[in-house]
Amino acid sequence: PTTASFLGSTSTDFPRTHEKISEPKDTPYFVDNEFRLSQSKDFVLVHDPATNNLVTRVPLMTTEELQDAIDSAQKAFSSWSRVSIIARQQIMFRYVALIKENWDRLAASITLEQGKTFADARGDVLRGLQVAEAACAGPEYMKGEILEVAKDMETRTYREPLGVVAAICPFNFPAMIPLWCIPIATITGNTLVLKPSERDPGAAMILAELAEKAGFPKGVINVVHGAHDTVNYLLDSPAIKAISFVGSNKAGEYIFTRGSANGKRVQANLGAKNHALIMPDCDKGATLDAIVSAAFGAAGQRCMALSVAVFVGETRSWLDELVAKAKTLRTDAGFEDGADLGPVVTPESKSRIESLIASAEAEGAKILLDGRGYKPAKYPNGNWVAPTIIANVTPSQQCYKEEIFGPVLVCVEVDTLEAGIELINNNDYGNGAAVFTSSGAIAERFRRNIEAGQLGINVPIPVPLPMFSFTGNKKSVAGGGASTFYGKPGVNFYTQLKTVTSKWSSASISPAKAELSMPTGS
Ligand code: NAD
Repeated sequence: PTTASFLGSTSTDFPRTHEKISEPKDTPYFVDNEFRLSQSKDFVLVHDPATNNLVTRVPLMTTEELQDAIDSAQKAFSSWSRVSIIARQQIMFRYVALIKENWDRLAASITLEQGKTFADARGDVLRGLQVAEAACAGPEYMKGEILEVAKDMETRTYREPLGVVAAICPFNFPAMIPLWCIPIATITGNTLVLKPSERDPGAAMILAELAEKAGFPKGVINVVHGAHDTVNYLLDSPAIKAISFVGSNKAGEYIFTRGSANGKRVQANLGAKNHALIMPDCDKGATLDAIVSAAFGAAGQRCMALSVAVFVGETRSWLDELVAKAKTLRTDAGFEDGADLGPVVTPESKSRIESLIASAEAEGAKILLDGRGYKPAKYPNGNWVAPTIIANVTPSQQCYKEEIFGPVLVCVEVDTLEAGIELINNNDYGNGAAVFTSSGAIAERFRRNIEAGQLGINVPIPVPLPMFSFTGNKKSVAGGGASTFYGKPGVNFYTQLKTVTSKWSSASISPAKAELSMPTGS
């Protein structure tokens, strides 16, 4: 199988294997509801993270090709924005049904290109599917307001789409993040140019194929490829009215600044360092299980992974038990039955993670469980890092300050709840934080005082479902997080309000004299 041969296959006939592909096909781009091969001579090579065998080549598209995609979206906007919301909703219903039918095919593409286990890849698809399901309520979301503001006078609001919008996606959720954007952008009447991560574009290509099948007209959804040059082209294109970005701080802060300077709306979700505060009164077994799962699931490559465990008071003696639980996890290729976590995405990512582990050791922390050097016998060439637990960590160490984005849990010890809250609030990031306790009073104190945007109370990864919104805070969002993905705020991001004030009264037909002062509503 190749990424390209994922296209057009069915959910069940796609083999789930890490075998070497004899003739890998290049990933096409998608414009005007067609797959096209780029004429570019420059490619990014995508390898299966479990084997480092070549899976596909992703083109760094030419500017002419990128402009074709933007032109296609712009041409489609004038008609798509006038398609009735009920008709757009019907297409969204079909899109939801098709994603469900192709769930396994999407998940298999994710495991092959991104590396996460097949079961976890199915979860990646589900979290995106739920945004599409919620977007089916578009007619409700798009309703305006009306008020009689004075005698014979009323003001109404209409929600109107922005035009062509772009989405720039990260590698870690190849289905979920494109689906944070596609359904909300399109149900609200915008047309979209989406750039998946150049490291794993397969799921986005399948989503494009399904969009055409669901009945999205030509040009409503376009998928382009590339890296910074492609992003710069999108950021500088006058036709593009808004940019949605999810990814690292380095890229996101730059994209926010350049996109905003060009007059575009930008929503940007960035990196994280999510803490778990472990109180002595919590359910010990359930808490340690939750932490192991949230720290090492998806090999720690989730923006909401719990990457810092804060042990309060006597809970510091639970470290051995935590290590024992982590040791039972199986690190293996994503299609292998029983794999708990897969490889990390690239050899560069593996080296970066290993160097952060080494820095912890050099700075005086203690490696309680060391996942460096691990290799499953059947897959000696993969990007393996097994679960790693580092204790005696202090806030000045590099392993605490930086987002590791790998299966590495750093452990900090504090004496009191207050000291734990202070530690968490002193961290620059503010994506998520969780407390484990059986006390309502502690949970409430945590809830009131923690500055992170998404809190869990005995819930390790508190990502809100799409009837809410993804509400990161501090350095985990650009621009102060004024815009948040999906839910009602997502609809706000993709729409512009138009307010109409009208006066209808027979007395106003021929006023005796024009009134020049501002109306006061009396
Ligand atoms: P990344 O920033 O390297 O890449 C994201 C996108 O930006 C890609 O499409 C890439 O092509 C583009 N890009 C990268 N560098 C660029 C540059 N210099 N100029 C222009 N474009 C550039 O991120 P990644 O490694 O793919 O994803 C992991 C990061 O994403 C982690 O930091 C993680 O926390 C974050 N993330 C955040 C959320 C969230 O909701 N907060 C969700 C998922 C991932």
